[in-house]
Amino acid sequence: MSDCIFCKIINGEIPSKKVMENDDFYAFYDINPVAKVHVLVVPKKHVANISAITDDNQKYVAGILPFIRDVVAKLGLADDGYRVIFNTGEKAGQTVFHMHAHILGGQELDWPN
Ligand code: AMP
Ligand code: ZN
Repeated sequence: MSDCIFCKIINGEIPSKKVMENDDFYAFYDINPVAKVHVLVVPKKHVANISAITDDNQKYVAGILPFIRDVVAKLGLADDGYRVIFNTGEKAGQTVFHMHAHILGGQELDWPN
């Protein structure tokens, strides 16, 4: 999508600090971290959020959990623990309507905030 900030990050129009990528997903550091480690994972194809997954586009997002597992391993968070959050919809605080997982870690995390 031409006006989507995360599509622009994926195609390199907007710079980002990459963690890792594969054919389907890109992981990069959040510009405004809310934890010591705060990384975003996005599918390279534009899908607005979980509720926008369809029979047609699900193939672009289905592998996100194994990719998140690999990002977490690379970040060294797997042993201590981490949180994965998909803000979905305006009332849940989604501000960028390109599906993304927040990976938070590197510290003790309160629950639910
Ligand atoms: P959400 O509020 O769940 O939609 O999350 C959007 C996230 O994108 C926020 O945590 C922002 O800090 C982050 N963000 C926005 N613009 C950028 C950018 N250019 N580079 C990295 N992260 C960004
Ligand atoms: Zn997009």
